[in-house]
Amino acid sequence: MRANVHIRFPQGAFARLHQRLLQDKQREAFALLLGQSHRFEDYTVIKVVEMDIARPEDYTSQGIAHLRLKREYIYDRLVKMQRQGHADTLIDVHTHPFCTQGAAFSGVDDRDERVFHQWLGDTLDNVHYASIVLSQTDYAARLWERRQNRLFAIPAQIKTQTVAEAWPCAQQPPDKRPCEQNTFARATDAQQGFLARSVLALGLENLRRMTNDQRIAVVGVGGLGSIIAEHLVHSGFMHLDLIDHDVLEITNLNRIVGAYYRDAKAARLKVKTVQQHLQRINPFATIHAHPQRIEEDSLLPVLARADWIILATDDHASRFKTQEIALRFGIPLLSAGVNITVEAGQISDMSGEVIIARQGDRLCLNCLGRISTTRLAAQAFPDLGKTLAARGYVSGAEVKEPAVKTLNALLATLSVDLLINQYTERQPHVPVWVYENNLAPCIYPDTDSVAQRRKDCFYCHDTCSDTAAVSH
Ligand SMILES: [Zn+2]
Ligand SMILES: [Zn+2]
Repeated sequence: MRANVHIRFPQGAFARLHQRLLQDKQREAFALLLGQSHRFEDYTVIKVVEMDIARPEDYTSQGIAHLRLKREYIYDRLVKMQRQGHADTLIDVHTHPFCTQGAAFSGVDDRDERVFHQWLGDTLDNVHYASIVLSQTDYAARLWERRQNRLFAIPAQIKTQTVAEAWPCAQQPPDKRPCEQNTFARATDAQQGFLARSVLALGLENLRRMTNDQRIAVVGVGGLGSIIAEHLVHSGFMHLDLIDHDVLEITNLNRIVGAYYRDAKAARLKVKTVQQHLQRINPFATIHAHPQRIEEDSLLPVLARADWIILATDDHASRFKTQEIALRFGIPLLSAGVNITVEAGQISDMSGEVIIARQGDRLCLNCLGRISTTRLAAQAFPDLGKTLAARGYVSGAEVKEPAVKTLNALLATLSVDLLINQYTERQPHVPVWVYENNLAPCIYPDTDSVAQRRKDCFYCHDTCSDTAAVSH
């Protein structure tokens, strides 16, 4: 059964947490995390926004199989949480350093946490409570919830920004789910499997990371997004959510993969057309089509569950909104964009870029200067937009942008390669890559805009702070 609760950490934070807590193999250790909960009908995601690792003076006693904290420690943190008002969830974390594998809550943990949950409920309103126990190599996690006056511990899963950072969940061994295992075995079979040649390139372990429980949301399935989605399916990703409210036009047929003349004549939805195409390539993959605008609330539970959001739209409003959602739920974002400028009948610029903004990296489209407030305003107020478009600052919605498939395909390929690199970690992570096809085709990392980004960004800088970053 799929876990309905995710606890999502920003980049590097989970690794820091278990390294710090498990430094001492002779004594249990404790940390208190603050989180923001987002609850949907059958899904809850808790975004970790602060980590506080208990200092030696915060314990009254600490041993190989027990720990006791000073009452003031918890109390102080609770007061702080209330004062700051940015968190609504407490996550307590403790270690079982005697346990190398197979982390499990003990009877004592159960009793203590029940008592604490009761006390919390009596003391504060609307504070959620979750807990994590770490062995030396895996974890168990749960969310405590009161339903009809009974207390339930709902198993939770930890999500890190990259799978490479993740630890196995001891309650839910991924390889023991028979249906997923069968699909994977069939797909990677050396003779018959459709991923047989991908296994040879990427390796079985990397493919397992990409397929196991990973959901990718693609926002915008036009010239760029449709190729990205096709690449994802060819690469072995098994769960895609395609989001685009637009319908096909004849003028799209120079670049959208999976779209045929009759689809454009019938003004079919882009998501339905691309979904059908992908499902024909891999009927075992789960491809969902969402013909909605990114602003629609019905998309939130879909996006909240994504492991990556890929942004491939070309207007500032939807890019701004998509990133806002990614930041809200703590989801890593990969943004792809292309540009062709034609002046006096000549191409003066043909370029594109891929930006990877993981939560906790402290960069986003806003501080990188990739979303202009002028353009947002132009789209929100069309009359103003016309004036600005006339001056050449923005392309108004009614202006048809030049578009060619070769440029799209290059950026789509770069995007998916960079995404796969987040799983394989074959190359060091670089946040911004630029492709330019002007004097000569070239691809280079854009270190300048990363260095020159606005450092006090309001959007991405409140992600997660360690309050106890000082060492013991
Ligand atoms: Zn314990
Ligand atoms: Zn930012």
